[in-house]
Amino acid sequence: MKCPICQKPVKLDDPEMPFCSERCREIDLGNWAMEKYVISTPIESSDDDLGVDKGEE
Ligand SMILES: [Zn+2]
Repeated sequence: MKCPICQKPVKLDDPEMPFCSERCREIDLGNWAMEKYVISTPIESSDDDLGVDKGEE
């Protein structure tokens, strides 16, 4: 089995499976969190534009 982050071979009995190390597992978690963040950001910012910006000026 290969690490999905760095493509290094991972042993089947590795405690960090399917990642080769804790570091790669954290990178994968980070990627996942970033994707969620990117999706939610445009919705939030367009909300701000319509509400706060025009309301205050
Ligand atoms: Zn790795």
